[in-house]
Amino acid sequence: MPDTLAFNQFVDQPFQTTVRGQVTFDGIGLHSGRFVELSICPAPANTGIKFRRVDIDAKLQTVEAHAKYAEQARLCTRIVNGDGIGLETIEHMMAAFAGVGLDNSVVEINAPEAPILDGSSQPVLDAINAVGLELLPARRKHIIVTKPVMVSLDDGAWARLDPCEHLEINIEIAFDDAAIGNQTLTYRHSDGSFAAELASARTFCQLRDVERMKNAGLALGGSLDNAVVVNDGKILNDGGLRMEREFVRHKALDCLGDLLLLGMPVKAKMTAHRPGHALSTKLVQTLLNDPSAFKVVEAGTTQSRSDSFVLPELAAAATA
Ligand SMILES: [Zn+2]
Repeated sequence: MPDTLAFNQFVDQPFQTTVRGQVTFDGIGLHSGRFVELSICPAPANTGIKFRRVDIDAKLQTVEAHAKYAEQARLCTRIVNGDGIGLETIEHMMAAFAGVGLDNSVVEINAPEAPILDGSSQPVLDAINAVGLELLPARRKHIIVTKPVMVSLDDGAWARLDPCEHLEINIEIAFDDAAIGNQTLTYRHSDGSFAAELASARTFCQLRDVERMKNAGLALGGSLDNAVVVNDGKILNDGGLRMEREFVRHKALDCLGDLLLLGMPVKAKMTAHRPGHALSTKLVQTLLNDPSAFKVVEAGTTQSRSDSFVLPELAAAATA
């Protein structure tokens, strides 16, 4: 196992990772508009990503970032544990975790909503980068999609997963506002690709949606500081876009984050037409509900595994 790796070398590693130390930041929640503090803490192999709501009773506070606890919410990704304790707007943080190759962490948060920050994954990526990742003595497991899975929603949006030896995301969006219009993107996930192609792409909305959401008591923390806002073919933010096709890049970022709800990295080709969180949550849940459509394989082996634990002797071999 290599001793030290550069920040952008953890996605393609065969070993699991965690953060080298606690990563702490704060910001406001998009929907609540309230101030939120958050710490991304180290965790042992096979923990996965778990959130701890430190603002409530210790017995109830853990919410696992897994598809079985995800709701098919339209505006954000929301997870709820068996006691009804939930956490929402986790998608940009999850995208940063997938993007950098972080497998295991307990994320402590003092509110029911993650901070929106600048509307992208860049601040989380930078904060993790400042502390760094380390390899753990356990092999990474991947979900390998073995046959096509397809889902759709009533509004015509659809998504599918097809077998592929690496993770690839193909996105198509279509908006009536000419500032967004129709955009497509093919993203291939590998070391460094997330930082270079997706991480800084911001969430976006149309001005009329902002007004509608605020009237409904939503997006109270939303502003031009944390979203690209378009109206009648114009981008209202000073400075315009950060990169070409920022809109479809953000949608790919959202999909990457939602795919991590599978509980481990996935190897598949995802194709999505007009994706959103309800669609991608439905896609990962549909996959997990069909055991004939995937297998779990440890990196560096060809054998498939049905349990979720690394055998002690394998862990010992991994450290040798
Ligand atoms: Zn988003």
